[in-house]
Amino acid sequence: MEFRQDYKTSAGILREAVPLMVEREIPPTPNNYALWYAHAADEDINLSEALLASFPEAGTYNEDRSEQLFFEYFVKQYLPQSEDTQNAVASLLAKLFGVVNITASGTHEYGDALKAAMATMESSTDEAEIQETLALLLDKTHAVEDLNSVFQAELKQAKQEVEALKAALQSSQEEALIDKLTKIANRRAFDLNLEQSLADATNPTILMLLDLDHFKLCNDTYGHVMGDKVLECVGQLLLKIQGEAVKPARYGGEEFAIVFEGALGEAEVLAELIRAKVESIRITNVGSTETLKTLSISIGVALAEPGEDSKSLKVRADQGLYKAKENGRNRVCLATPLDQSCIA
Ligand code: GH3
Ligand code: MG
Ligand code: MG
Repeated sequence: MEFRQDYKTSAGILREAVPLMVEREIPPTPNNYALWYAHAADEDINLSEALLASFPEAGTYNEDRSEQLFFEYFVKQYLPQSEDTQNAVASLLAKLFGVVNITASGTHEYGDALKAAMATMESSTDEAEIQETLALLLDKTHAVEDLNSVFQAELKQAKQEVEALKAALQSSQEEALIDKLTKIANRRAFDLNLEQSLADATNPTILMLLDLDHFKLCNDTYGHVMGDKVLECVGQLLLKIQGEAVKPARYGGEEFAIVFEGALGEAEVLAELIRAKVESIRITNVGSTETLKTLSISIGVALAEPGEDSKSLKVRADQGLYKAKENGRNRVCLATPLDQSCIA
């Protein structure tokens, strides 16, 4: 639900929503106000139908039902994931609760003042009394106007806060799929990509597992910071080949994985290209002429067979990788096809 009304329109909606709530004796909580505001603004026909059917008149209000509707039409799309977000939403709602309460009781009072004024007008012929009533009514009108403008300002601010929370939530969801060091997809994103590719029969799925050779030695020789730099560099390289059909990820430690959609021959060419590029990486320590010369990567490539699941495909790609290591590293090896492999 997106509220994008300008000041005048939303003030009009407020004037429509509050009496609907008052006549049904709906408690003026922020949640309830959000529901009735959305109804008055014609935001969602389903919400309007559900709301009017649930609370047709005074005495029909039910807290659980109202909460249910609020969850269905408001909370679902903003489902907070982190504790920080939950706290921010809670304090926002508490703030709105206060303002709605004041505004609604102010509107109530105004209604009472109107009734009293009408009674005086009907019964009194005393000019002074009528004047006094009119002056009082004018005061009350100004007061309710002030209340409404405060409420509008609070609503505007609340809307901005909700938008900021939404953006924070989106970026935290994106961050949750990215590896911090290499800036490419992480293991979680990789698993999702692999399952998605296997479920979509349009293109064959190929899994490549890549493992840096003798990386422990690299750390031992040049230090862990340099090791991290190498991993970052490989991440950059993989990011450059990323596309619709090529989804690289950091599999863990010094291992990477690529979900590739296409022909096996194309995958082999790509794997060979990556191997050669890694071999040509030269990293120099700042302030030193020392250059890392021994960087290389081994790659196992496995083509998913019809109906094969991710677990079996990973085992076979890993066997291809093992073969590459056994045969001297710095090479690409194809995995054994499923029917010839010895895995149950
Ligand atoms: P092999 O060629 O058989 O793969 O040998 P290897 O040394 O690469 O393999 P091994 O599994 O023995 O060691 C992997 C090393 O990778 C050890 C670990 O410290 C290092 N490593 C894993 N994650 C990171 C990381 O995030 N940063 C750094 N700098 N090193 C890491
Ligand atoms: Mg390894
Ligand atoms: Mg290794």
